[in-house]
Amino acid sequence: MSPATAQAPWIQELTSFVGKRGGPVLAWDPVNAPMVRQWCEVFDFDFAPFVDAAAAAASVHGGLVAPATMLPVWLMPGLRNARPPGSDTTDPRAIMKVLEREGYVGILGTDTEQTYERPLRPGERLSCIHSVDAVSDEKLTRMGPGFFVTFLQEFFDEAQQAVGTVRLRILRFKPQAAPAAEPKRAPPPQPAINQDTAFFWEGLQAGQLLIQRCAACGTLRHPPGPACTQCHSLEWDTVPSTGRGKLFSFVVMHHPKHPGFDYPLPVGLVELDEGVRLVAPLTGLDSAHWRTGMRVEAVIQPVAGEHRLPLFRPSASA
Ligand code: ZN
Repeated sequence: MSPATAQAPWIQELTSFVGKRGGPVLAWDPVNAPMVRQWCEVFDFDFAPFVDAAAAAASVHGGLVAPATMLPVWLMPGLRNARPPGSDTTDPRAIMKVLEREGYVGILGTDTEQTYERPLRPGERLSCIHSVDAVSDEKLTRMGPGFFVTFLQEFFDEAQQAVGTVRLRILRFKPQAAPAAEPKRAPPPQPAINQDTAFFWEGLQAGQLLIQRCAACGTLRHPPGPACTQCHSLEWDTVPSTGRGKLFSFVVMHHPKHPGFDYPLPVGLVELDEGVRLVAPLTGLDSAHWRTGMRVEAVIQPVAGEHRLPLFRPSASA
């Protein structure tokens, strides 16, 4: 720690952990062949001196040995995070609580370094002494400002002879707020606008959901087209929709994915109260909770580049 950062009282509290040793912590089980065999299975690693007693006896080891990298396994507390009777109960991670309290709530394991004095044999029961080996100055990392904390475990056999060490370095950091700029993404497909459909897109730009209406017989139609399907008149005008209706049908799209959309993507066939149906994205509800017949209402949002689309969200109105 540099003198400058050591001024804050809580930094002094932090550095006071360095070098303080706790222990001994005892092992639940001795080094044992079943755990070695399972470890070798997990890593698909068959080395005769670990798993084959006869071959091990004939090897330079003269008998079964445990993989060196299993060293910390023999002192793991287990799922209940408890220690065998007789163990020191000092919390080896107490320094973490200080960092959490000060807002360094993010955690990232960075690296581990192990040393081995000799091979371990089934039947040996280890113990360990734990300590905080080092705390860095505050560093500005890509994750945010944080401290690197190095934990040290020193392992001993029953004769109190050192058999190895494990150093684990962890970064505790203050998570940074997401950057203000939206990440770049592919734009969604742009609408095909022609003289029959331009009114619809222009209406959306103005915040209105317009429906085409036959000027001769008054029949509403959507999607827009040049002629009335009822009376074949080519004359038409538009009426603004209330944007309210019900979900006539819907799908939740998972695949294929277009890079311009988020998935799963619920898309509805909405029956507007005016009587026409239109296809539109659904919003405001988890994909699993949409149901046909639900009341929905339009929200007009820019979603396709400069264009606006009506999205439909659940509505409280009957
Ligand atoms: Zn008509």
